[in-house]
Amino acid sequence: MDAATPLGTSSAQRALLITTLAVPLTGWTMHAVALHRKLAAARRDPLTGLLGRDGYTAKARQILDRYTDTATVLMCDLDHFKAINDTLGHAAGDAVISATADRLSAWAGSRAAVGRLGGDEFALTLRIAPERRQARLAQLVDKLTQPVVLEDHRVVQVAASIGAASANSLGTSNLSVLQRAADTALYKGKHTGRAVLASRADLTTASVNGRRAGRSGTHTVERTA
Ligand code: GH3
Ligand code: MG
Repeated sequence: MDAATPLGTSSAQRALLITTLAVPLTGWTMHAVALHRKLAAARRDPLTGLLGRDGYTAKARQILDRYTDTATVLMCDLDHFKAINDTLGHAAGDAVISATADRLSAWAGSRAAVGRLGGDEFALTLRIAPERRQARLAQLVDKLTQPVVLEDHRVVQVAASIGAASANSLGTSNLSVLQRAADTALYKGKHTGRAVLASRADLTTASVNGRRAGRSGTHTVERTA
């Protein structure tokens, strides 16, 4: 009994010690998880669930750093989107933006960085094998021109313009440079229904197309990338 008492005491003390440590540890872990979730949510666009500007930039840079040979940056802007808002209402416009975001995510896959930069403007960075680039872009154009069916069954005709810039063919992994080149390519093909791949000449374009000056999406890209 004498021997059992100190043993019993020490295991009770051990249990107390573990509990004493576990309670604040569990509390701290839960706090850390909640904080992490809050931060992750803050990095997402509330309408579409896509990454916002900062989250997109961070993930895009990771992809560009790791996969220089295949990383491709895309800029995407809906065509005549204002007309959808004007004729069908802002809620219909929101539904079109959400549908576009879903289509972009599905096309790009879970490893891609897909962000909404503002308004009807999206940016993507993902790996595409050089020999598949044209086919993949054509597939995306096809996806983005499928009519969107609203909850009330109205059917909305949609279209988007896409510019792409690949790190290996332009010889740079700099996100800002690639985004600008992709943006220039986008505006070369605006309203033509085709995706345009940026060439080296697009790297020397001094500034983003003047029509884009003052657009919220453009500013955010320029500032952070
Ligand atoms: P373009 O064909 O040249 O791209 O012109 P556009 O009509 O598509 O218009 P533009 O891209 O220049 O501008 C996008 C418009 O999207 C401006 C704004 O009224 C509208 N918009 C911006 N954010 C939202 C939003 O969250 N929801 C809705 N419904 N509309 C938005
Ligand atoms: Mg537009």
